Amino acid sequence: MDANYTVLARKYRSQDFQSLIGQDVLVKTLTTAINTGRIAHAYIFTGIRGTGKTSTARILAKALNCQSADRATATPCGVCENCRAIAAGQHIDVMEIDAASHTGVDNMREILDAAQYRPTNGRYKVYIIDEVHMLSTSAFNALLKTLEEPPAHVIFILATTEIRKVPVTILSRCQRFDLVRVPVDTLKKHFAWIATQEKIELTDGANEMLARAADGSVRDGLSLLDQAIAQTGGHVDEEAVLNMLKRADRNVVVDFMKTILSGDVATALDKVDEIYTNGADLSILLTDMMEWTHWATRMHPALRAGEVQNLPYTADQREQMREINSRTSLNTLSRLWQVMVAAVPEMQSAGNQKQCFDMLIVRMMHIAQMPSVDEIIRQNKSAQPDVAKPAPVTESAQPKAVEIKSGKDLADLMQANKEILLYSYYSSNIEISEISGTEIKYFDRGNDETFPHKLADFLIKKTGKNWTLSRQSESVHATTITEQKHQELVSDPLVASAMDLFADGEIIGVSK
Ligand SMILES: [Zn+2]
Repeated sequence: MDANYTVLARKYRSQDFQSLIGQDVLVKTLTTAINTGRIAHAYIFTGIRGTGKTSTARILAKALNCQSADRATATPCGVCENCRAIAAGQHIDVMEIDAASHTGVDNMREILDAAQYRPTNGRYKVYIIDEVHMLSTSAFNALLKTLEEPPAHVIFILATTEIRKVPVTILSRCQRFDLVRVPVDTLKKHFAWIATQEKIELTDGANEMLARAADGSVRDGLSLLDQAIAQTGGHVDEEAVLNMLKRADRNVVVDFMKTILSGDVATALDKVDEIYTNGADLSILLTDMMEWTHWATRMHPALRAGEVQNLPYTADQREQMREINSRTSLNTLSRLWQVMVAAVPEMQSAGNQKQCFDMLIVRMMHIAQMPSVDEIIRQNKSAQPDVAKPAPVTESAQPKAVEIKSGKDLADLMQANKEILLYSYYSSNIEISEISGTEIKYFDRGNDETFPHKLADFLIKKTGKNWTLSRQSESVHATTITEQKHQELVSDPLVASAMDLFADGEIIGVSK
């Protein structure tokens, strides 16, 4: 680089609202306000680094002080004395303060004391305070005092990357503008235009990679482009950018994830060796694998059927991801994500990244092959015949308090305890005459001598009490459980109407 080289970010810094990149909403609101004379005393710009906060602040300072009009204008000329001085950061009435280096309150008070005096050359005294969240508490208090009763000729323009650290008392006195991350397509257009201006070659693929790596920041993207131009002498292609970013090609990442999910550990480790030998940074590869997992999850058929916007993959790569997704559960993707997130700090602190990464791959493949808890439960269910296990009976266990007041209560207790034979005999033969306390009077149509012993055993086991069973010698003209059920069924209106249809019909059984 020659000594006169100006970094691209400075050379192509936006000089007016029209050339601000990717901040359409802010530009529209701000220009309308200026054109209609609604000028606030304090503005705060927030957003990630490199989205144009300081550029916007300077453009606004020019708009307020441009000499091409007799009042503030949304289209500062850029050539008058004021405009040029502000652009160069040398205007006497425009104070640029970097809060990161002026945190002392004395300094802040001194600066703000001067606010009382009228501007020298401009219409307004403009205070641009960058990274305002870094001010000390006492500096904030001094600022607040001026903000509460600002002189008519003073305008504050605050900028911050961390709006949550700015006290509410300050925020409530400012007009707030959020600068958004600049979209990839907008960055690409901007970078392509700059490449033309600089007469350098920038392939579309390389431009795409730079724009994505910039992560919404014009400045970050341009400094990467600076670096790529310096390294290639002006022929910036995909390979050069991949080398510079120490990144493996996306094709390599997609292919690698496919191997991991296929369960072939030996091949996967061979591939790590190859990628490593080709010079990729393994912690960046990990980031790319996380990116892949994130997009695979977003694309997963379990989440949505439609197209996901803004995917960083080509049509062919997307097709491969769809294919992998069709045999990978959302659960597996989510578990892989967790393992990778946990590995990020490990990779940073590991003495030997390669070893750490190899072990991570083995762990990931182990997890990808492991069934989820859901799947295990499902497998167990389908592997066992669908019969309920008998309830374990422990002799020492205290029987639960059960109340038996009717023949039906007794039948329910037998069914609940799966006493199938006892229930079967009882329901078709026994007429219950009376149940009071622990005494049951009944008539047995089947006249089975063993029945009272079986019933007494069952009752003591389930109720913990000795029951007196009084067998009557003659029918007590009570219905058995089976007869009761039959009657219930016949009286059901639906069954009754069915019986009407089949005049000679008879109910011979009930199946649920
Ligand atoms: Zn001007």
